Amino acid sequence: MKEIICIVCPNGCRLQVDEAADYAVSGHKCPRGKTYGREELTNPVRTLTSTVRIEGAAYPRLPVKTDHPIPKAKISAVMAQLDAILARSPVKRGDIIAENIADSGANLVACRDL
Ligand code: SF4
Repeated sequence: MKEIICIVCPNGCRLQVDEAADYAVSGHKCPRGKTYGREELTNPVRTLTSTVRIEGAAYPRLPVKTDHPIPKAKISAVMAQLDAILARSPVKRGDIIAENIADSGANLVACRDL
C-alpha cells in the first residue's frame, strides 16, 4: 500500500493505492483522483514547463511547455535538449517550438506571444 498526495487540484487528497489489489485507490474525493492514483504508480506523467532562448524579442527567454503530459522518465531527456533550442521572434502562444521533443511524443509549445 502506498500513500500519495493527489496533485490534480488544490484539495490535495491523501490517496492510498493498493498495488496488491490491482492498484485500487481510496481516499479520493472525485474520479480524477482515482485515475491519478493509479497512473502515478503505473505510468507517472507530467507536463514539463521551462524556458528556451529567443532572439529578436523584448526578453531573452521564452516560456514553453509540452503540449501534453509526458512520462516522468522522459523529462531529463527533454530538459537536455532545451539548451540547444533558439527560438526566433515573433512567436505566438501555442506555436510549436520543437516537434516530438526527445521522442517523448509531445511537442514543445510557446506559452506566450513574444
Ligand atoms: S481526488 Fe479529486 S478532489 Fe481530491 S485532490 Fe484529487 S482531484 Fe482534487
